[in-house]
Amino acid sequence: MEEDTTKYEWMEQLSPFNTVFQAELLAIQEACLWASKTNQQIKVWSDSESSLHSIASIDTKSPIAQQTQEILLKSTNIKLGWIKAHVGYSGNEAADGLAKNATEEGIPTFIPAPRNHIKSLLQKESIIRWQKEWDNGETGRSDHNVFPKVKTTPIPWKRPEIMFVTGHGPFPTYFRRFNIRSSDSCGCGNLGNPLHYAASCLFTTSYHLTKPSADLEPLSWKRVMNNNNSRAKIRKLIHFIAENETLLFPKDGDNN
Ligand SMILES: [Zn+2]
Repeated sequence: MEEDTTKYEWMEQLSPFNTVFQAELLAIQEACLWASKTNQQIKVWSDSESSLHSIASIDTKSPIAQQTQEILLKSTNIKLGWIKAHVGYSGNEAADGLAKNATEEGIPTFIPAPRNHIKSLLQKESIIRWQKEWDNGETGRSDHNVFPKVKTTPIPWKRPEIMFVTGHGPFPTYFRRFNIRSSDSCGCGNLGNPLHYAASCLFTTSYHLTKPSADLEPLSWKRVMNNNNSRAKIRKLIHFIAENETLLFPKDGDNN
């Protein structure tokens, strides 16, 4: 504005994902662009302190602020200044009015989404993909029963619980799978997997979660593993097995 006469006005409409910060910076940039084409001394007033700080900063991350800095370097006729908002400066009021109009009648303009917006979109998308892979995968199915939902925060489990659920622990089935033993049987003759020791093996009755022979259905694993008492029992069970391997399932000669 020159006195109270409008010399130039401009508005454009941004996307919902754009921030107020981006809008303020864009308006300042546009004003500077216009001013750079005149030979007059122009003062650009903004009530946005954060935008002015960003333009004044040598390490600003905002591309709009960086572009504005380039304009200002070439145009010594432009000065920036801060102005208090909503106290009746005619130029400031006019800019507010245009900003409101732009939300309805402005020409849509594409300004790349701010970094945080992209970050949260990518995070959501990768969680969705990760979940699909986890649901449709072939490995770690016993873990899937207990943890159907993927999460980026680690679970507060100790080694024994992890051994129990993953099966990667002192069990004949594990030793057989990795060729440490030739047989996957417990010393009692049954299949020596974690469930066997937690529910039916006669050698570990005092650590059983349920009565012997009552099957621990995969679905009840989740309930069991989320229960503090059951987890404490499982920890004791794993320690017991680890300390009594030679009694529970005597060494076989084949692979030694
Ligand atoms: Zn057994």
